[in-house]
Amino acid sequence: MKKYWSKLARGLVPYVPGEQPQDKKYIKLNTNENPYGPSPKVLEAVKQAVNDKLRLYPDPSCSMLVSAASESYGVNVDQIFAGNGSDEVLAFAFMAFFDPGRTIVFPNITYSFYPVYAKLFKLDYVTTPLDCEFSIPSEQLMESSGGIILANPNAPTGKALTLSAIRRVLDGNPQSVVIVDEAYIDYGGESAIGLINEYPNLLVIHTFSKSRALAGMRIGFAFGDIGLIQALESVKNSFNSYTLDRLAIVAGTAALQDPEYYRGTLEKVLATRERFVYELEKRDFIVTESSANFVFTSHKVIRGEEIFKGLREAGILVRHFKQPLIDNHLRISIGTDEEMNAVIRALERIIAGV
Ligand code: PMP
Repeated sequence: MKKYWSKLARGLVPYVPGEQPQDKKYIKLNTNENPYGPSPKVLEAVKQAVNDKLRLYPDPSCSMLVSAASESYGVNVDQIFAGNGSDEVLAFAFMAFFDPGRTIVFPNITYSFYPVYAKLFKLDYVTTPLDCEFSIPSEQLMESSGGIILANPNAPTGKALTLSAIRRVLDGNPQSVVIVDEAYIDYGGESAIGLINEYPNLLVIHTFSKSRALAGMRIGFAFGDIGLIQALESVKNSFNSYTLDRLAIVAGTAALQDPEYYRGTLEKVLATRERFVYELEKRDFIVTESSANFVFTSHKVIRGEEIFKGLREAGILVRHFKQPLIDNHLRISIGTDEEMNAVIRALERIIAGV
């Protein structure tokens, strides 16, 4: 089977994304997508862009999208890098800033793509344990020789670090790059983007897959000092000049130009999250304080895996990680009120054993 595989391919242990099943219609709460579609203005802009120009390559520097992001986030265009989803931006950042032989550090419970990239790029890494409340002890992320990567809010816990804790990590690592993956920052926590002028070693990564409802378009960004952005450009242009296609550039730009729609859907998700947490706690679930568009929860009596299977049978997909320390937990994305009501009804049946 693997006769023709390179040594690199043979050694890979790939990331396993949440299922995207095609067999029947599920209530999909397993990949933290946005339950509300993109802004109607985004859909219209994409429709307009489906034309003869698709025969031409897209703008390799995504100038239109980067200018819109510059205006929206209040940072210079040369402090922004756009990529094909934040996973790609993360991969480029690992290549641009981390070196084999210099150990990188990240928490033991975090986005499971980090160890996958570390192995792919042959980087040594150590992990630091979260405390018993699933918080990242920032004092343990000091003086790394190779660099730091953390998700804020963290995944899959949803817990946020304060900006002063992020500052401490930056102050403690002046010799290496600190990557802050803010995939879920719009749902809580304070963004570190405002610190990029102060810290030339800070790279903040964002995605349009969550709060901007564009997971299907694959749009991600990095914000940082011009020196860091140039390194990312250099890696990108050694790999694929056209990482964002014409439709993605148009969609991302239109999304940035409709902040009212984005804020409206964001508020709906936050209100649903609050109500859902209340309903879970009433039914003996322990819920980690969430600053994200998902909750991380375990039941006081019933095992996580059992609940996961029961929900699946009821046509509801959530995420269960077969991983030490969190294998009794579930990560449940916040959907519409209607979807979360269906989850609560299904949980009641599982708890009652029917
Ligand atoms: N970072 C974190 C913490 C995530 O949970 C995800 C989503 N799986 C990503 C990055 C990647 O998002 P995308 O590639 O869709 O931008």
